[in-house]
Amino acid sequence: MARNNSLDMTSAEFTRIGNQLLEWLANYLDHSERFPVATKVEPGSIRKKLPLTPPLHSEPMENILLDFENIIVPGLTHWNHPSFMGYFSISSSKPAILGELLSAGLNVNGMLWKTSPAATELEEVVLGWLRQALGLPPAFHGTIHDTASTSSLVAMAAARESLRLGIREKGIAGRDLRPLTVYTSEHAHSSIERAAMILGIGQENVRKIPVDDSFKMNPDELREALVNDKKAGNMPCCVVATVGTTSTTSIDPVNAIAEICEDFGVWLHVDAAYGGIAGMVPSMRWVLDGCEKADSIVVNPHKWLFVPIDCSVLYCRRPEVLRKTFMLVPEYLRTDDRDVTNFMDYGIALGRRFRALKLWLVFRYFGMEGIVERLQHHISLAQKLRSWIGSHPSFEIMAPSPFSVVCFRCVPQEWRSRSEVMTEPINQLNLRLLEAINESGELFLSHTKLNGRISLRLAVGNLQTTEQHVTAAWGVIQRIYGRMQDAVRELSIPG
Ligand code: PLP
Repeated sequence: MARNNSLDMTSAEFTRIGNQLLEWLANYLDHSERFPVATKVEPGSIRKKLPLTPPLHSEPMENILLDFENIIVPGLTHWNHPSFMGYFSISSSKPAILGELLSAGLNVNGMLWKTSPAATELEEVVLGWLRQALGLPPAFHGTIHDTASTSSLVAMAAARESLRLGIREKGIAGRDLRPLTVYTSEHAHSSIERAAMILGIGQENVRKIPVDDSFKMNPDELREALVNDKKAGNMPCCVVATVGTTSTTSIDPVNAIAEICEDFGVWLHVDAAYGGIAGMVPSMRWVLDGCEKADSIVVNPHKWLFVPIDCSVLYCRRPEVLRKTFMLVPEYLRTDDRDVTNFMDYGIALGRRFRALKLWLVFRYFGMEGIVERLQHHISLAQKLRSWIGSHPSFEIMAPSPFSVVCFRCVPQEWRSRSEVMTEPINQLNLRLLEAINESGELFLSHTKLNGRISLRLAVGNLQTTEQHVTAAWGVIQRIYGRMQDAVRELSIPG
């Protein structure tokens, strides 16, 4: 094979294979429906097809790509399939994929302004665009992190630092400190509790505030929990509200929560990882009501803004606290640049990929009009599906759908009048329905549990998903349910 002075692949080969791969990807994105949406492989079966030791000799790209097609692709769950409707359905758009390619090709590390001024300044500008699009005030300083889990961890570390307990200097162990406490709804994402574990706050000090019938945090319960902790001498550190909870996409009453946080002088972080993006749609702006009063808020472009994973944005109204929490400049990173942002001072990671590029490409290629139109399309598809499910005698809707996720379950008509006593059989039936749907390869859904009841979740969020796919999804659900009469008989308990 032709060698190259740089020891890397030759540019001729890079271009030839690169073009092939772009064609492969374009074809994949246009026709991902030729694959079953979820794979049926056995655990360990992919590993078995791969050598245990690293290759000693160079291999031709053609061989490597054959293995990609024959071993890797069959083991994929296709998140870019238009009938992938589990978890939060996400979508990488073609312009953003090109942005990712550019970012890998440039391989700049935006830890300091001077390590790539364009990476830092593009991030500042694009996050300014996103902030305006979300209707947040200019005081919010944005930083891109990999995931919402990291963004929330960073925000909660800043909340802890804002208590001025000298934790940065003295740590948390072996000191005479009262417990720090965190407040979030029982429907908050597990990343919040995990952040409390990592920050030394402890799971037992995460107060899971009860929710109302619509799965929204009850602000009276929040106030009561804060009063009780204050009385006990504990130190409230942070309240985390959610706009678009993972299970049902419920929206906590952020205005009321912000008022309570102000009364108690507690940091308010809003996890709007999925739902926040909908705030770009003018008629949905209300979902972010009250967020302007938060200390920090996370939104994830990789969930619903058509960029490939990973890209999460943390906005913080108190960037000086972020710097106080994270800034640590060893001599080898010291610079004398004035009036610049060094993003390494605002989070955990030193090395930072040029993620702003893919977001920039989405904004420029689709424009605000195009983004809003696509978000509205997803919301309206989900609302249509919700109305079809809600009017079927053997299905019921389990939660409001403010965005593009529908929570539902099947309840055989003959069990309807006894649905309370039949909770367990109904749960079993729905789990079997989910398994059969996902095994069909035609549709992929996920589930959750709401007040002890298994609920199926159908999320619309892929750029390739059309009304035809949503109609087909409803057809698959009804068809598979129709074939479950044996299971209904088997699970039925005499009443
Ligand atoms: N917050 C919410 C509300 C979520 O739904 C999720 C994931 O679905 C997360 C946080 C975690 O997101 P990430 O995978 O970016 O850490």
